Amino acid sequence: MAETIFTKILSGDIPCHKVYEDDHVLAFLDIGPLSEGHTLVIPKRPAETLDQLSDEASAAIGRVLPRICRAVKKVTGVAQYNLLQNNGPLAHQAVFHVHFHIIPKPDAEQGLEVAWPAGKLDGEAGQALAADLRAAIAG
Ligand code: AMP
Repeated sequence: MAETIFTKILSGDIPCHKVYEDDHVLAFLDIGPLSEGHTLVIPKRPAETLDQLSDEASAAIGRVLPRICRAVKKVTGVAQYNLLQNNGPLAHQAVFHVHFHIIPKPDAEQGLEVAWPAGKLDGEAGQALAADLRAAIAG
């Protein structure tokens, strides 16, 4: 995997405002915050996208995400927030090392804005699609 800005943060070549660290996970403040408290949570072992992350690394992140969210809520005083995780350039991923954004939503202007062009799920197509997904997950 190519080196990214986050690899350099992990190696200490680039500084960050560290929020949390354990053997598998690092969390730090986003340098371009959408709102105060915007925090990034990354696995120490690099993977480009979430689907490439090991079960172990994923579990390590899942274990601490709620705790970091609680800290962001407590310190910012903002009760509402978004979790964002982008995969691939079309999906707005700019740094190709898996990361979760925790983005406080203090009001309508600050924080994450989302376009949500919802379609309609067809019953038959949904049944077939869900069956395909179940089979793919079962491997
Ligand atoms: P994404 O578009 O999901 O790949 O988001 C990448 C995020 O990384 C952006 O929100 C950037 O502001 C953030 N970022 C880039 N470089 C740094 C850095 N050196 N320290 C902290 N955050 C960074």
